[in-house]
Amino acid sequence: MLMSQLYAPTLRETPAEAELVSHQLMLRAGFMRRSASGMYTFLPLGLRVIRKVEQIIREEMNAIMGQEVLMPIVQPAELWQESGRWGDYGAEMFRLQDRNGRQFCLGPTHEELITALVRSEVRSYRQLPLRLYQIQNKYRDEIRPRFGLMRGREFIMKDMYSFDKDEEGLDASYWAAYHAYERIFKRCGLEVHPVEADSGAIGGDVTHEFMVLAEAGEDFVLFCPDCGYAANVERAEGVDQPGEAPQDDLQPLEEVATPKISTINQLCAFLNREPKDCIKTLIYLADGKPVAALVRGDHNLNEIKLRKLLKCQVLELADAETIGRVTGAPVGFAGPVGLQVPLYADFAVRQTVNAVVGANKQDYHLLNANLGRDFVVTTFADLREAQPGDPCPRCSGILEGARGIEVGQVFKLGTKYSKAMGATFLKEDGVETPLIMGCYGIGVGRTVAAVIEKNHDDDGIVWPISIAPYHVVIVPVSMKDPVQAEAAQKLYNELVAAGIETVLDDRDERPGVKFKDADLIGFPIRVTVGPKSLEKGELEIVIRRTKEVRSLPVDQVLAAIREIVEGGDLG
Ligand SMILES: [Zn+2]
Repeated sequence: MLMSQLYAPTLRETPAEAELVSHQLMLRAGFMRRSASGMYTFLPLGLRVIRKVEQIIREEMNAIMGQEVLMPIVQPAELWQESGRWGDYGAEMFRLQDRNGRQFCLGPTHEELITALVRSEVRSYRQLPLRLYQIQNKYRDEIRPRFGLMRGREFIMKDMYSFDKDEEGLDASYWAAYHAYERIFKRCGLEVHPVEADSGAIGGDVTHEFMVLAEAGEDFVLFCPDCGYAANVERAEGVDQPGEAPQDDLQPLEEVATPKISTINQLCAFLNREPKDCIKTLIYLADGKPVAALVRGDHNLNEIKLRKLLKCQVLELADAETIGRVTGAPVGFAGPVGLQVPLYADFAVRQTVNAVVGANKQDYHLLNANLGRDFVVTTFADLREAQPGDPCPRCSGILEGARGIEVGQVFKLGTKYSKAMGATFLKEDGVETPLIMGCYGIGVGRTVAAVIEKNHDDDGIVWPISIAPYHVVIVPVSMKDPVQAEAAQKLYNELVAAGIETVLDDRDERPGVKFKDADLIGFPIRVTVGPKSLEKGELEIVIRRTKEVRSLPVDQVLAAIREIVEGGDLG
């Protein structure tokens, strides 16, 4: 490819719309352009990277008996009504109608479509296991699309679905995908950490997310340096400290005025108590019914855990009007004493004695509230968000925290979709039984963004060889010098003939401009063709990642480049 012909409009300035480095660099280096909020056009360089990641995924999926298919983006509503998710998916789903008024959606995921496909064809255990995958655009109407490819409304995803005859089969499919994912991300030059996670709207019980630890991540991961336990904070278990509250010195309940106090820290400073001596009371609506959730003042409630405990569809913080009706006070003064709604408390609340709580009265709190004497809890459960410094739920270690980018996720779905949609097969003993399913996703664009987040410097992107848009850029210092132009063209022809993906920067620009673009785009290898080295019969190779410069005799350049490209790793 000639640089003069390449459609890669680079930008000198950082676009204001981009917050993350990966987003900024993909725009600046001319890899993509925004078409609408959360939707992007990939330009030639960007698409080459996307296609390389896809090809790595394809090879690893095929290696575990995955077979590629391609399903429609537009999906009929009836299938989603069968699974019960047409309503569940809410405003995140792009919906549309055809000319006859029939309802469809733009697929946010494809469990329904694949289950419908397989149920009409698979009849017998002899046809199992079956692993089908596709690489395709998905659609989610995010409230706040941002961070470029990290959280788009249209995004490229690889999704695989496995169908097995029993739990052992599902286990084999699940771990085959899990290990394939480890290989895929390694080949893309990414270090990933599989963590236990919440299955969210997809459903199922067992799931791992593949996290790239990076400041730019939207997720928060807790991990144990001692035993390797790692979990998304949404999922991480709090450790139940069983036992009754210490019975020492129950002080009498006392009402205190706390005017103009709105935070736990202000309250603690005013009363000279610690946050752990307080109990926070949060009023929620669970499918429209008010409930109260109690956590210690130094803990945060994990809404996913509360929703699972209550087995409700919609859990939301109550509005001010509901809080007023339930507690008799404005927002900020809720407390468990005298509250006439079910109370769900985190285990840690059980150890709290003489607690500070809201008084259900404007500008008042209660001192020395005690469980059993002053209020009764409906159910204790693990309801709090685990946090760094907590004990590890698996060993005696202490959890640490880090931000992460989720690039893939694997789920054991079980029979959620096959039961709901009647996808069954005949077992060896002739009994008709639902297919056991798993599903496995990789965000292709997000993987590319994560690679950039982990591989860049002040000058631009530093691509790993495996997914670089091109391996080599040849930069003649001056195209006007026929000796340089000829040497550059000769090397270009040799590299292309050797199957090395090469760009020749044939533009009539100053060398500084060409070097800047080469660094910004992130070609792993740059060859400079300059008058001084040519006089010595040499060319200069510059390694993008290390900035190492090697002067080599012209006739050794091809072999040296081939060795670097085939080695695939520039340290
Ligand atoms: Zn541990």
